[in-house]
Amino acid sequence: MTACAATILPDDLCRDMLAEVAAMRANSYPTPQRVAAVVLTARGNRYAGVSYHTAIMALTMHAEATALEHAAIHGEREIVAITGPNCQACKQLIWESGVNAGIDIVVIMEEGDRLIQVPISAMPPYAWPANRWATHGEQ
Ligand SMILES: [Zn+2]
Repeated sequence: MTACAATILPDDLCRDMLAEVAAMRANSYPTPQRVAAVVLTARGNRYAGVSYHTAIMALTMHAEATALEHAAIHGEREIVAITGPNCQACKQLIWESGVNAGIDIVVIMEEGDRLIQVPISAMPPYAWPANRWATHGEQ
């Protein structure tokens, strides 16, 4: 998969987003200290989300989904970055959000003290719908 170069964000911004995630975990529902996520929009705003669990697991909302929804509630659909790591279902959600907005969303993660920024286009092989950023003619 060939992808266009994704935006590389300043380290301090990424670390602020990850710190926000750490603080927001206390608000996951109904059990604190589960999962949280933060998105960064093209306008420079950040929106947090937390996991919202239910006894019927199919109704559980992942933190990434609630963060993306939080941005959408405020009329912001151009997501440029989101915190990770993310489960496969959320990768699909992030992928589709990127395809819809024409933005190769950057996933921000930490591995130990090391900051990692990975474009979503580099994550799901043979993603559906097709890779808008592909340069090899597959659509
Ligand atoms: Zn998930």
